Amino acid sequence: MSTATLTSFSTLASDFYGFEDLLTDQEKSLLADLRRYLDTEVRPIVNDHWSRGEFPRQIVKGLADLGLFALPWEETRPFENSAVFRGWVALELARCDASVATFVGVQNGLAMGSISVGGSPEQRAEWLPRLASGELVGAFGLTEPLSGSDSAQGLRTVAVRDGDDWVLNGSKRWIGNATFSDVTIIWAKSAEDGQVKGFIVPTSTPGYEATKIEGKQSLRIVQNADITLTDVRVPDSLRLQQASSFRDTAAVLRLTRADVAWAAVGNMVGAYEAALAYAGERVQFGKPIAKHQLIQDLLVKSIGNITASIGMVVRVSQLLDEGTQRDEHASLAKAFTTARMRETVGWAREVLGGNGIVLDYDVARYFADAEALYSYEGTREMNTLIVGRAITGQAAFV
Ligand SMILES: Cc1cc2nc3c(=O)[nH]c(=O)nc-3n(C[C@H](O)[C@H](O)[C@H](O)COP(=O)(O)OP(=O)(O)OC[C@H]3O[C@@H](n4cnc5c(N)ncnc54)[C@H](O)[C@@H]3O)c2cc1C
Repeated sequence: MSTATLTSFSTLASDFYGFEDLLTDQEKSLLADLRRYLDTEVRPIVNDHWSRGEFPRQIVKGLADLGLFALPWEETRPFENSAVFRGWVALELARCDASVATFVGVQNGLAMGSISVGGSPEQRAEWLPRLASGELVGAFGLTEPLSGSDSAQGLRTVAVRDGDDWVLNGSKRWIGNATFSDVTIIWAKSAEDGQVKGFIVPTSTPGYEATKIEGKQSLRIVQNADITLTDVRVPDSLRLQQASSFRDTAAVLRLTRADVAWAAVGNMVGAYEAALAYAGERVQFGKPIAKHQLIQDLLVKSIGNITASIGMVVRVSQLLDEGTQRDEHASLAKAFTTARMRETVGWAREVLGGNGIVLDYDVARYFADAEALYSYEGTREMNTLIVGRAITGQAAFV
């Protein structure tokens, strides 16, 4: 049983203060198309794919045809659009399913963002349109088995220059989409200057091997992989020409971190809407549970979290559009909204009683998926330390 549909955002009053009115008519129209697509093509299949831990490959074309991969980038975008709108797209995707939002975030944010931020004009012209059309699926390989939060200094994957080539050796962990990506951006430390550099690695390159991480209990639809790189040889033309240090990697993460904050809002909206619908239908003590004061308390605290979080992510995206967004802005939004999301999915699960842990009612999926959103793209602790450094002037990472 699916408890809510996506086409009726405002009638369910999840956008309590009407932030969607900040969007242009063209942006609103694409959002309506997206909601229709998600309602008809994605929502009906997500629980089944979630339980089997499979990614529905057929939606890549549908998402590409809607223009979602192309939206952020000058070379590919179908029309001028705002960061607030692109955030809203992430919200809508996660409102349906956080794994699908993650898939899109890896494709159009982490993978294409790396090429946009770190690539030469020639590299952007060559790769972005092919990723935008869905002809190619991309992945982003930064995290390693022994380096997660400390990837700014802790990467062990090494790139050694050999004539016109680079030879990559090392391993990566948790890499989203990487069981079926056509290209993976691999971040490695150069043996030459010790700086982190990015490489566009076609996954058919000899020595590249990706193995699915099994047994995940969150974002089960996302295909995360362990990658081993054994003497993987790529030409210098596949090195991101304008990425010379971790500072450039961080620039990519800054862009995508705010989108994860938006996705966290979408995940809590999805859980809240399912809980609200359930509360209207479930009868106990002779009346719908929505008529019980303590249930209303949970729902009102939830809409409070959602409304505060939408306000925050809207402003963070406006700062990006204005060119004044800093790392700590995106970090505060990611840390704050994911914490509010964790509370909210817990309250939704509470509203459903026992049915809150059954996949059929959707809330169990939002509840479980919240955990991965909470940890990836910088844990709450890491994002807190980034904000802490900004407001005190003291770095407390080590
Ligand atoms: C579902 C999923 C998808 C992902 N997708 C990708 C991807 O596509 N590409 C990619 O490169 N990575 C990906 N990641 C990796 C993700 O970014 C890392 O999991 C994350 O950065 C945390 O690293 P870690 O798991 O190694 O935890 P660790 O860094 O080992 O941290 C463990 C705990 O210690 C805390 N901690 C660490 N250092 C400090 C400190 N100085 N002070 C206080 N606390 C500290 C952390 O906050 C955390 O609570 C994904 C992860 C998941 C779960």
